[in-house]
Amino acid sequence: MTPPENKNIIEEHKELIKDVLQAYPEKSRKKREKHLNVHEEGKSDCGVKSNIKSVPGVMTARGCAYAGSKGVVWGPIKDMVHISHGPVGCGYWSWSGRRNYYVGKTGVDSFGTMHFTSDFQERDIVFGGDKKLTKIIEEIEELFPLNRGISVQSECPIGLIGDDIEAVAKKAAKQLNKPVVPVRCEGFRGVSQSLGHHIANDALRDHMFPRFDKAKKENALTIELGPYDIALIGDYNIGGDAWASRMLLEEMGLRVVAQWSGDGTVNELVNGLAAKLVLIHCYRSMNYICRALEEAYGMPWMEFNFFGPTKIATSLREIAAKFDSKIQENAEKVIAKYTPIMNAVVEKYRPRLEGNTVMLYVGGLRPRHVVPAFEDLGIKVIGTGYEFGHNDDYKRTTHYIDNATIIYDDVTAYEFEEFVKAKKPDLIASGIKEKYVFQKMGLPFRQMHSWDYSGPYHGYDGFAIFARDMDIALNSPTWGLVNTPWNKKEAKTKVA
Ligand code: SF4
Repeated sequence: MTPPENKNIIEEHKELIKDVLQAYPEKSRKKREKHLNVHEEGKSDCGVKSNIKSVPGVMTARGCAYAGSKGVVWGPIKDMVHISHGPVGCGYWSWSGRRNYYVGKTGVDSFGTMHFTSDFQERDIVFGGDKKLTKIIEEIEELFPLNRGISVQSECPIGLIGDDIEAVAKKAAKQLNKPVVPVRCEGFRGVSQSLGHHIANDALRDHMFPRFDKAKKENALTIELGPYDIALIGDYNIGGDAWASRMLLEEMGLRVVAQWSGDGTVNELVNGLAAKLVLIHCYRSMNYICRALEEAYGMPWMEFNFFGPTKIATSLREIAAKFDSKIQENAEKVIAKYTPIMNAVVEKYRPRLEGNTVMLYVGGLRPRHVVPAFEDLGIKVIGTGYEFGHNDDYKRTTHYIDNATIIYDDVTAYEFEEFVKAKKPDLIASGIKEKYVFQKMGLPFRQMHSWDYSGPYHGYDGFAIFARDMDIALNSPTWGLVNTPWNKKEAKTKVA
């Protein structure tokens, strides 16, 4: 049962939402009120509408389907060249903006931090870009011969002018004897990055499943299969996250045959289909391929969470339970090895961080997944929301958050600022577009997409860095210097 003081907070938060909504014209208010709510214990989801078109003119933080496909899913496949097909902007602004780390010789056998574009001009809009695309693919083959494949990431105009990139790609794939993958991820499709993930997953299915089937039939798979083969998917290796996760999985005796897609390769996209189990970290962006794998090959898959020692230990045990006693014993050994190291991290940082509050706003996974890492440090999440989560994400969120947490779906810049002004959290954890707004308000901020150029945050090694970074943000002496000495309000800082 909800204690009375919590009931009061729930009412207070509901009132706050009502107040904030007053600023909108009626039509927008009606639309936005469905996306804001207060979590109440025992409810099966957060009670917000999600995955709906953004209201025009309210400064959503959302991106587009191209960002979801090229920026998130396909872009990290390092040995493929990804063509941003259309005018120059989308590829330019997404050029190396996401920290999906890889190992490779960029420009020779890897292309992750490069920008390939068809740089559409007016004549391409008028006469179509298919011929140009054919020529670009030939040029790529000539200038970057070690590429293992090409993807064509459609930007807005491609679908509008009626180009047939599928026909171009089919012909080129035959000629090059490599995957050439057309992706219909034009930014006008869907309502956010989310449909881009789905389209990208479908492209992966349509172009990699047949390769796997053929290789299997001809006994030409490039790996020897083993009983402990797993595919680590939905980890984009931000600041080395997937490596920090992979280490633990390998330490417990599993063999990671594929990473989709951080530091991933075309071979891994094919070989991953032979794994015994798929481990999915980012459910939102890759659940579609899991379902396709299950349907096509009966492959089992499971979600896990490598944020913070509590959740890591639970996840390691749940993963091990899918295998034999050898792996289960190994999992216990891994947990036993890292527990004292994690205890030392908690002992050092928890006293400096305990009792602080944080408001989160991220994309499709982290608004719930990072909660346990904050809790391991004694930091309480008082508000959270997704840019492009769906109802199944909000359902999962209820397992992570406390009663009276403020929930905001596709929050507008105005709403987020107002919630922060009212609740005065000690820390905001969100994206680059939010960072400087809140820092100018004198509030500690950590980027939860790019890890603020730090990380990894996944796994045991990642947690040590996470704890250090939250401490640096929260306890920086800067926050005591926000106000001029001759007009000093109460400084909101803890002495470092
Ligand atoms: S909405 Fe269209 S133009 Fe804008 S980034 Fe996405 S694909 Fe490019």
